[in-house]
Amino acid sequence: MEFISAQNSRFLPKNEFKNLIQQTFHSTPPPLREIDLQKLWFEGWFNNPLTTTDGTVLSIIQPGFWNHSAGPDFTHAAYRDPSGKIHTGPIEIHREASDWERHGHHLDSRYEEVILHCVWKSSAHSTVTQTGKIIPQIELSRFLTINLQDLKALFPESPPSSLPVAKPGLCHHTLYQAPEASRWKLVEEAGWLRLLQKSRRLHLRQNTVGRTQTLWESLAEGCGYARNILPFRALAQRLRASELIGYSATTRKALLLGISGFLPQEIHLDKNQSLEKQREAQTIWEQWWRAHSQWSHSLLPSTAWTLHGIRPWNRPERRIAALARLIPRLRSLKEHLQKAARNDFQRDLTHLHDPFWESHATWNSIPQKPSPLLGEQRICDLEINLYWVWQIMERGLSIQSLLSARRMTPNHKTVLAWARIGGESKLPSDKQTILFQQGLLALLHDFCFHDTSNCFSCPFPAMLQRQSLQEQDSRTILNFEDYRSWIKGEIETLEKIL
Ligand code: SF4
Repeated sequence: MEFISAQNSRFLPKNEFKNLIQQTFHSTPPPLREIDLQKLWFEGWFNNPLTTTDGTVLSIIQPGFWNHSAGPDFTHAAYRDPSGKIHTGPIEIHREASDWERHGHHLDSRYEEVILHCVWKSSAHSTVTQTGKIIPQIELSRFLTINLQDLKALFPESPPSSLPVAKPGLCHHTLYQAPEASRWKLVEEAGWLRLLQKSRRLHLRQNTVGRTQTLWESLAEGCGYARNILPFRALAQRLRASELIGYSATTRKALLLGISGFLPQEIHLDKNQSLEKQREAQTIWEQWWRAHSQWSHSLLPSTAWTLHGIRPWNRPERRIAALARLIPRLRSLKEHLQKAARNDFQRDLTHLHDPFWESHATWNSIPQKPSPLLGEQRICDLEINLYWVWQIMERGLSIQSLLSARRMTPNHKTVLAWARIGGESKLPSDKQTILFQQGLLALLHDFCFHDTSNCFSCPFPAMLQRQSLQEQDSRTILNFEDYRSWIKGEIETLEKIL
């Protein structure tokens, strides 16, 4: 069947006609902004369970942590499907289903793990990821527990910086029942235990491979933080410091890039490529070509690397270029660690010059204004995870008081942990210390990131709550004091063997 278009007097095929009718009668824009829909989701103004557009009933267990930077809107969300299976992962929220494609998420690997696409109004658009996975869709407007006018009034304009990242967890209330001094002491002790465990690992590694190689591996791990720690560690173990010392800077870089698999199979030096890139690629390839047969058994597979969600300036290629520059500094870095010269240690991690990689994120990226190969945050992480952990290995307990005074700028993980445990979106200034924030990270990693029950099955509050646990005599860790003494026992064991 065909119909006449009023605009250009032509016959329209049936599907085009259908679209026209839909646009005419159903194109009222959604009444809420995307940020309001995110608030609606975060605050839970919807019936639960929800039914997807294909009729599957899902029970939302936890809405997730609100992500205010790049990537899906919520992370660590969980729902239960009709078979009882729990799905955990990110959630994306849009006004219209077609926004998924309009925003390019169907081509973006950061959205591959999304478990649910919530939209105000659904349409015939299905939600498909880069690899073709179909994501269930929920039409939120069908499940509101409040009328629209009231909902709008609930969502006044608020600056993005004032938006929360997570709701306080069950442990927040329990912790606040404990006396203030012991409450925060517990967090610091958890942080001290975390650092002691890292220090113990460093100690064991040093006994096995020696100081220089341990330092080299630790620097590589620091460069891989947070998503590529393992491949960076493997790279430093396959290409040991002793094998790289003595090579020129270009050869070191060629070997590291070659073994990590970050050299394209073939570089066509055509006229379209910048002179800079041609020069860099040619030099690196000349070096790699000579050496590659000797190292071919050590190549890392491309699947070893996590590249989605990595900011351009944090790409592994740039970090590898930094590592190549650090080899001649291993001796002085080791001396600074031994002499506890923190400023000198930090200074050695800066001014790592590499004209190509300072202005490129990948081989094919457009050159940008040069940026240091190791940024401030990376150096701060290396200070904590290498400098201070090394100091604990050398000096033991005496470092603890320094760490409880040494300040550290909060990062998104410590802010998230504080929102869950401390119940506030801003970490108070007196808690911005290394030890306290390591404690927050310990709790986040040990409990929050494993939880798929919206805190209900998390053992942490029960560990802290004397009353509920008195009814469960069989539990070994019974209450706040017991949890503290467990931490203390672990600390004592580690302090003795360090
Ligand atoms: S998951 Fe556990 S540790 Fe995390 S906020 Fe909930 S109760 Fe606290």
